[in-house]
Amino acid sequence: MRPTGVPETIRHWIGGELLDAADARTFEVIDPVSNSPYTKAAAGGTEDVDRAVAAARAAFPAWSRLSNRARATTLNRIADAVEARHDRLAEFESYDSGLPITQARGQARRAAENFRYFADVVVALGEEAFRQGEEQFSYVVRSPVGVAGLITPWNTPFMLESWKLAPALAAGCTLVLKPAEWTPLSASLWPEIFEEAGVPAGVVNIVHGIGEEAGQALVDHPDVPLISFTGSTDTGRHIIRSSAQHLKTTSMELGGKSPVVLFADADLDAALDSVVFGVFSLNGERCTAGSRVLVQRPAYEEFTRRLAERAANVRVGLPSDPATEVGALVHPEHYARVMEYVEIGRKESVLLAGGARPEHLPEGNYLQPTVFADVPQYARIFQEEIFGPVVAVAPFDEEDEAIELANATQFGLAAYIWTSDLKRGHRIAHAVDSGMVWINSHNVRDLRTPFGGVKASGVGREGGAHSIDFYTESKIVHVALGHVHTPRFGATS
Ligand code: NAD
Repeated sequence: MRPTGVPETIRHWIGGELLDAADARTFEVIDPVSNSPYTKAAAGGTEDVDRAVAAARAAFPAWSRLSNRARATTLNRIADAVEARHDRLAEFESYDSGLPITQARGQARRAAENFRYFADVVVALGEEAFRQGEEQFSYVVRSPVGVAGLITPWNTPFMLESWKLAPALAAGCTLVLKPAEWTPLSASLWPEIFEEAGVPAGVVNIVHGIGEEAGQALVDHPDVPLISFTGSTDTGRHIIRSSAQHLKTTSMELGGKSPVVLFADADLDAALDSVVFGVFSLNGERCTAGSRVLVQRPAYEEFTRRLAERAANVRVGLPSDPATEVGALVHPEHYARVMEYVEIGRKESVLLAGGARPEHLPEGNYLQPTVFADVPQYARIFQEEIFGPVVAVAPFDEEDEAIELANATQFGLAAYIWTSDLKRGHRIAHAVDSGMVWINSHNVRDLRTPFGGVKASGVGREGGAHSIDFYTESKIVHVALGHVHTPRFGATS
């Protein structure tokens, strides 16, 4: 059922005002259960982005000059305002994106936590100082980069927006956010959240719209020196190319095809829970999903059989039902793409579970969690990101083969290793090409740690101090304390 309070039109928020697009265009927003339009959103273009950037520029001097403590106080108030809307937020998110309601609630909690965490980070922040003997002393001054451009995807929209908003604001940037066009609903709550928290007008601006129009205008804007992007690898490549024009700083959090490397000596029960949750939670629309499971031969048959049984039992259902474990995929276009991969997988390997919509759900973007086994390395379902509840399983014999298979894709976001031999766990962790590794665990984050990928999974790191580095420029100031030797060119005495 459509939640109460859905706006008739989701408007831009620029300079503290809710605005239609300058040319009054809108686009339809659909829900993934009925795939029918339930509201519309302003379709931003260059003029809207120009206005938003001008508002952010005007707000920059006052916001950037506040003390870190003052900004942190505001961030904590933002977290309070997010928490106060926890239920509505989760309801909006689940309705718009198809995420199961219980998991949408978890994302809402994480969003508030991101603001509290970055409030703490900036209050604790010190700057570096260097002494060269008695003669020279140098210290670093950090200043916010300016107007930040934030571009986010649809898979966990509100949480990922908060993951960029919080550090950008904490660092003293003002910003323009372009939410994903498939899921703009939860972002319609930001204006009241920021107003309640006392964020001055123009510090945060939101321009809705299609990526190629609104997003591109933000990337091309000469007064936006920095773009933080989370989304697909192809779009990331394109944005880096466009950003080169103005030599922008970019952070790229891109796609993944993360391996789980499971040795026969592992705790198979714990590994099974972790694999099932890691690839099927968030509807499998998770950048760090362990979507390739490599299992050592002695455990292969038992593990794949149990994985298939569990996949068949996963409760697929209405996103609003608290019993649902996998909801509806975000959009019919994405659903069609995932289903195409399922057809490809049938030809490339052995289907052990799923592969079709559950019988009790004749409409909507539903897929029973799908397990393919004996997937060869060259298979497309081994190589390409599917971003749905689909897992590819393959056997290996020796450690070297496991590493080779783990590294055999263009991606390198996360990796998960299961073994009771910790020496081996560390060896593999160091050998896999990925930005993040978990040993005997799933994707449990510590917000202080670097987040990001290597190869086609991204450029740069966010998280903890890395985010503050990204949103600030460091200036080094060198000061002479004593006598500094200077060669006396041209001197005659
Ligand atoms: P996408 O690349 O299609 O879109 C992401 C955002 O970019 C959207 O807001 C879109 O409107 C915008 N965009 C599209 N074209 C643009 C352009 N030319 N200029 C500027 N902006 C443009 O990605 P998606 O389909 O929304 O998201 C799914 C992808 O995101 C998956 O590949 C997933 O792995 C990735 N992802 C990565 C992480 C991570 O942290 N590494 C996290 C979540 C999702």
